[in-house]
Parts: sequence; structure tokens; C-alpha cells
Amino acid sequence: MNIKKVDHIGIAVKNLDEALKFYEKVLGIKCEGIEVVEEQKVKVAFLPVGDTEIELLESTSEDGPIAKFIEKKGEGIQHIALRVDNIQEAIEEMKEKGIKMIDEQPRYGAGNAKIAFCHPKSTNGILLELSERK
Ligand code: ZN
Repeated sequence: MNIKKVDHIGIAVKNLDEALKFYEKVLGIKCEGIEVVEEQKVKVAFLPVGDTEIELLESTSEDGPIAKFIEKKGEGIQHIALRVDNIQEAIEEMKEKGIKMIDEQPRYGAGNAKIAFCHPKSTNGILLELSERK
């Protein structure tokens, strides 16, 4: 497995427009696009910073994973994504090393990525996403 960089940091917010005021107006980071990923019931705003990205995540439904996260823990960092060059190989390697995967097959991720989440029980408590993106 070849980890290339921190692909993005996923931050759960209640309201994207409200959150963007802070990132754009206060920090001066430009939002470079918004995408709705229906399957994950999430609306994602992309904010590139240097070689990585902040992704703001707003739930599109009360029962979506981001809504549930905010209900339990409040707004904040929800996951960290590492860029890999081959997601399928990375998943296999993780499984061989005894890491519990939430996704045993790659699935679609915002920004046209192929992603897989690792279970926090295997990663010292963080929701770790592996992401392959061209
Ligand atoms: Zn992500």
C-alpha cells in the first residue's frame, strides 16, 4: 500500500452555507465546488488547502450518517482520508493485516473518488477513509 498524502479532512457541519462563511470569509479559503452524494445522504463542499483539502459535510436527511454523527458528538472532524494509489489493493492489504473494514469493496466518494472506510475499532478511534482519486 502506498499512502501518498492526506487527501482530505471531513468535517461534519449542521449548515453548509453557515459554515462556509467561516471558511471563506474569515479564513479566505475558496470553495471549489459542492456535490450531493445521494447514497451517503450528504452534501459536500470542497475547500482545497495547499496539497490537501477540507471537506465540509452537511446531511441531506435526518437519518444520514452525518446527522447521526452530529447528534452524538456535535459538529466537528468526522473522518480523515488518506490517498492511496490503488484502493482495491489497499483494502486487501488492510484485511490481510487484520484491520476491520467498514467497506470491503470500494464505493463512490465525493469528488469522483473510489473510497473505503476502516472501522474505528482498528484505527485507534478515528474514522479513516482510504481514497483513490486521479
Ligand atoms: Zn471523505
